[in-house]
Amino acid sequence: MPLDLKALVRTIPDYPKKGILFRDITTLIEHPEGFKESIERIASRYRGQGITHVAGIEARGFIFGAGVAIALGVGFIPIRKKGKLPGETIGQNYALEYGVDTIEIHADVLDRNDKVLLVDDLIATGGTAIAAVGLLRRTGAVVRDAAFVIDLPDLGGADKLKAEGVDVNALIEFAGH
Ligand code: AMP
Repeated sequence: MPLDLKALVRTIPDYPKKGILFRDITTLIEHPEGFKESIERIASRYRGQGITHVAGIEARGFIFGAGVAIALGVGFIPIRKKGKLPGETIGQNYALEYGVDTIEIHADVLDRNDKVLLVDDLIATGGTAIAAVGLLRRTGAVVRDAAFVIDLPDLGGADKLKAEGVDVNALIEFAGH
């Protein structure tokens, strides 16, 4: 029987604040087969498609993105929070529930010959992923694919990302918020 990845994700109610059901992937990555299988299921979809880089969003996107990059035999690009990268950067602002945040990549890391797969642990409203796609595309790179371990489809992020011309895949869905 195939491994039930959804059963390995722990749900913690009211974290980080009341009303949120936090989908905790630490229980999935702590499970050796669960972690390996998550990486392999994502990577298997993108083999032979000319992906040149995997980009992962800080911090949980690094865990899965790095594994997928190794499995595909391509390099990994960290998309970091503002002020963390040592070289020249380009940045993208995006709205949070309260205020604004900024993500950055190194300015010289990609060009128009590159085809990037974006990876993160979870897509909710899609704000983070859309900012990441916009940032990656400013380098000239082609970004047509994004993979997530978890989608919360009722929050509409995957649909918004698809409207930006990105093919979205997720291993697990949770209904509701
Ligand atoms: P969003 O920009 O709304 O799509 O939020 C995506 C980011 O927030 C991801 O990097 C997730 O790690 C985190 N996130 C949002 N909602 C949840 C949730 N219910 N459980 C766990 N992480 C979440």
